[in-house]
Amino acid sequence: MAILVTGGAGYIGSHTVKELKDRGREVVVYDNLSRGHRDAVGEVPLIVADLMDSKVLAKTIEDYNIDSVVHFAAESQVGESMQNPQKYYLNNVSGTLNLLKVMLDKDVKNIVFSSTAATYGEPEEVPITENCPKNPTNVYGRTKLMIEHILSDYDRAYGLKYVALRYFNAAGAHISGEIGEDHAPETHLIPIIMEVLLGKRDKLSIFGTDYATEDGTCIRDYIHVTDLAQAHILALDWLKSGNPSRAYNLGNGNGFSVKQVVDTVERVTGREIPVEYAKRRAGDPAVLIASSQKVRDELKWQPQFDDLDTIISTAWKWHSNHPNGYEGR
Ligand code: UDP
Repeated sequence: MAILVTGGAGYIGSHTVKELKDRGREVVVYDNLSRGHRDAVGEVPLIVADLMDSKVLAKTIEDYNIDSVVHFAAESQVGESMQNPQKYYLNNVSGTLNLLKVMLDKDVKNIVFSSTAATYGEPEEVPITENCPKNPTNVYGRTKLMIEHILSDYDRAYGLKYVALRYFNAAGAHISGEIGEDHAPETHLIPIIMEVLLGKRDKLSIFGTDYATEDGTCIRDYIHVTDLAQAHILALDWLKSGNPSRAYNLGNGNGFSVKQVVDTVERVTGREIPVEYAKRRAGDPAVLIASSQKVRDELKWQPQFDDLDTIISTAWKWHSNHPNGYEGR
């Protein structure tokens, strides 16, 4: 029996594949490499194909005796999702519907789904618990929330079991420095700061200094990518033991402002980061902090790299050793 990891060549996917492999699990990666990197996958079978390709999906499930799926494959840029919603509804929603159809055809009924804090939108209260209202403010978040509804309906009607993991701000890189984050274009705070340190950008633009926070900049809950990866393994085991479907938040429960992140990077790397103060970025909530009590209680999830210094030092290890990421591979 093997685990199919869609989007396993991407950032969080590749870290999850590595953790699964390190635990001796049999893994197959399914990725169209539109965003992912061949070199991020390591010594694992990689099927280069699209989620819409039912034939290849069905054959992969048969050939590798797949009994569960971890589903990362998706478009994930908030700004782009607003400009090109069709791409997001087709790739994320239709792609998942197709995957689920093939899974049900082949009687594969366990799936761990990559969801997001963006399903909540502007929170009414922090820390955010799983029951908080869900009003996504962008198309990306809406596609993920739609998929959660689809999973719930398929559970009721077809007995599909799922765990949806709502990530807060994924960051950092594997402690080995062998794999890490490589997006083109890069939109996330910590890798952008790394690009400034590497001389690839002149400065960091801080988006908004007039938020209702102590220093006026947005507060986020940064979570190490390996801690996210561990949660996927716990979720797979939860489903394999016959437990019911669940949705969990994944964050550390600690908020850091953009300025605090900059200060921490300067302290950890011993280098100065030139910044400019810019306008707010549309759709950015002031504060996003997770309550992850539910996943700690039920899955016994315990983050290992939950301090910002470690998150940043592992990111710096990856970026300084791979200034051009995976070099296009
Ligand atoms: N941010 C920023 N400058 C940048 C990129 C991001 O000030 O060049 C801010 C952004 O406004 C947000 C925080 O950093 O408050 C984290 O943004 P990121 O895109 O990393 O994650 P998000 O919270 O949007 O998922």
